[in-house]
Amino acid sequence: MIENVIKTIDELGVKEPNRICYDYLGEKHTYGELKKRSDAWAKTIINKHVPDKEPIMIWGGQTFDVVASFLGCVKSGHAYVPIADYSNPSRLEMIEEVSKSPALIVHSELPKVNLDDKIIIIRPFDVTDHGNIQLDESRMVKGDDNFYIIFTSGTTGKPKGVQISHDNLLSFVNWEVSDFDLPEHPSFLAQAPYSFDLSVMSLYPALVTGGKLVVMPHNITQNLGKMFQVLPKMNFNVWVSTPSFAQMAFLDRTFDAEHHPQLTHFLFCGEELPHDEAEKLLDKFPDAKIFNTYGPTETTVAVTQVQITRDILEKYDRLPIGKVKPDTKITIDTSKSNDGKEGELVISGKSVSKGYLNNPKKTEKAFSVNDEGVRSYRTGDAGFFDGDMLFYRGRIDFQVKFNGYRIELEEINHYLGRDPLVKYGVVAPKYDRNHTVKQLVAVVELDDNAKDRLADEEALTQALRDNLKENVMPYMLPQRFIYRDHLPISQNGKVDIKAVIAEVNN
Ligand code: AMP
Repeated sequence: MIENVIKTIDELGVKEPNRICYDYLGEKHTYGELKKRSDAWAKTIINKHVPDKEPIMIWGGQTFDVVASFLGCVKSGHAYVPIADYSNPSRLEMIEEVSKSPALIVHSELPKVNLDDKIIIIRPFDVTDHGNIQLDESRMVKGDDNFYIIFTSGTTGKPKGVQISHDNLLSFVNWEVSDFDLPEHPSFLAQAPYSFDLSVMSLYPALVTGGKLVVMPHNITQNLGKMFQVLPKMNFNVWVSTPSFAQMAFLDRTFDAEHHPQLTHFLFCGEELPHDEAEKLLDKFPDAKIFNTYGPTETTVAVTQVQITRDILEKYDRLPIGKVKPDTKITIDTSKSNDGKEGELVISGKSVSKGYLNNPKKTEKAFSVNDEGVRSYRTGDAGFFDGDMLFYRGRIDFQVKFNGYRIELEEINHYLGRDPLVKYGVVAPKYDRNHTVKQLVAVVELDDNAKDRLADEEALTQALRDNLKENVMPYMLPQRFIYRDHLPISQNGKVDIKAVIAEVNN
């Protein structure tokens, strides 16, 4: 069991300075370098007088220096807010507006953005390695202080910042390090951008165990051709991804135990693991340990796990999400249940976040604290227990997972509805037989003044896509647009989203 994430990583930097911790497409870095560079980042942040305890936004990709700057932030007493450098400018502006962060670390080219002129901008060349730096340990992030803040999709068009404390992270890391039978000094595939909490499943478990991160950056994962050039040459023990991402790897014929003998563990999270995918994987990697894990960002990456063995595959058509981690409890709120068994999953315990940054209303809706100070989070996920084994049965709201990305459909609807060409617009997920979203379909009733634009439907769709693109992330853009004279209206006078979703799936 470790007690402090920052100190544990630093100790490795002192005891084993030459051990490799980061491999970015062959460019390698050691624990010694990580300590030195993160100390230098901390010192620079302190010298820039970023107001105490305020979160720092970090605009960047998946390079070593980005990780060093994360640690630099927490060592200087600030939480970091990772923002992927392929995000559109409006996302960065919205995160600044919500987080009220006074500083931004810029690792890669910054798009034209409207940021408050009070923002302190820090670039990697501002950071000089001063040699041995003695940092004041008392200012480092610890206990209930925020360690990182990850922004997820929000229903009103504004993203929500999930605050994860040092102790939340510690609870998760200690569990992953002890309950997945990982090898000593494990090396992890690190492919998820740091703005997604799935990345934390590789990042800190690797760094506290003297392990290694083997990075597959975003520009490679977005290009199958490049990915298939890189993947066969990569060497790691632990695969971490969403099931959708692993499905892409299946297309590479060399993706099997014969070509990747060192790959012994697969950790899945973020969306439903289809039965046939797990079966296929066990055929390709017969001796590997495959884990299905479940959890929302709000409870720090994952809180349940189960190893998917041949027995489990035989026993269940729809795979379980597993047993709850020891310091956590999941209860089922069956108050709206038809059978008294299935209901909303409520997660309580040490890895539950204190809530959404600067958003008391949404925090109050989803989070609570009991008399003993134990926090709970209402997930919006439906599920049930069979003994101590938990099963997931979809969402009770309009949040979906598409290609592993968490999306509030209402966020896209919000911007679609603001388009002057649109009277009502609803984005519906189209599911396959594995309950996986295969397509986002926008169903649109045009504004009366825009109906003549239907004469050139292609140009109309392009115009709607272009407008949406300015406000939502690229993975939120619908693949299809269909036009209706009228959308169904429910009793409360609003568009009946459920009816639209049902129509798209029939
Ligand atoms: P995120 O906050 O991006 O990690 O997304 C959390 C949501 O993803 C959960 O609330 C679930 O709806 C879904 N999810 C995560 N893991 C699983 C899983 N193993 N099976 C089914 N759904 C999952």
